[in-house]
Amino acid sequence: DSRTYAVQCVAALEAARQSLHAAESRLGDLDAVAGDGDHGRGMVRGIDAAATAGAAAGTRGAGAGSVLIAAGDAWADKAGGTSGVLWGAGLRALGESLGNQRTPGAEELAAGITAFAARITDLGKAGPGDKTMMDALLPFTESFTRLVQEGAEPRQAWASAGLEAVAAAEATAALRPLKGRARPLAEKSLGTPDPGATSLAMIFTVMGPFLAG
Ligand code: ADP
Ligand code: MG
Ligand code: MG
Repeated sequence: DSRTYAVQCVAALEAARQSLHAAESRLGDLDAVAGDGDHGRGMVRGIDAAATAGAAAGTRGAGAGSVLIAAGDAWADKAGGTSGVLWGAGLRALGESLGNQRTPGAEELAAGITAFAARITDLGKAGPGDKTMMDALLPFTESFTRLVQEGAEPRQAWASAGLEAVAAAEATAALRPLKGRARPLAEKSLGTPDPGATSLAMIFTVMGPFLAG
C-alpha cells in the first residue's frame, strides 16, 4: 500500500516532467517580459533532475516521502534560479509531511500541501498579491483544505482546487510584481501572468490524478 503510493509519486513527477517540457518555451516567453527569460529552462532542468532522482529512489524501494525528498533535493541542486530553490524545498517539505508509512488520506494530503506552501513562504517571504507562484499556491491550498473539510473526496477536491489555481495564475496578469527578478520592470509585467504561478498551477493540475487519485 505504501509502495503503491511511492509509485504514484514517481508517476506524478513524470507527468510534471512531460508537461513542463511541452510548456518550456511558453514559460520562457512569460519570464522574458519582465524577468530574465529562463523560467522554462530552469523548470525543465529542475524537473528532469527531480523525476530521475525520484524514480531512482522508487526503484531502490523507497517510500513516497523519500521519493519526494530525493526529488526535491535534486531539483534544488540542479535547477538554478529562485523557482528551483523554492520548488526543491517545497517538495522536500511535502515528502517530510507525507512520510513513508501509508497512502495519505484527504487530511494528510491537505497537511502535506500546507507544509509545501509554508516552506516556500518561509524561504521566499512572498505573500498574496506579490505576483509570484504564491498567488496560485495559496488559493490551491485554501480550496483543497476547505473542500476536504467539507467532506469532498481528495480527487474531486484536487481537481477543483487545480481549476482555481489556474484561474488565479491567469489573474496575476493584473498585478505588478513585488518580489523577485521581475520587480524592477514591474510596469512591463502588467498584462502578463506570472511565470511561476502559471507553471505551479499547471504542475499541480497534472499531478492531481497521481497524488490524489
Ligand atoms: P529567476 O527569477 O531566479 O530567474 P525563475 O525565472 O525560474 O527564477 O522563476 C521566477 C518565478 O519565481 C517568478 O515568476 C515567481 O513566481 C517566483 N518567485 C520569485 N521570487 C519569489 C519569492 N520570493 N517567493 C515565491 N516565488 C517567487
Ligand atoms: Mg527567470
Ligand atoms: Mg534566472
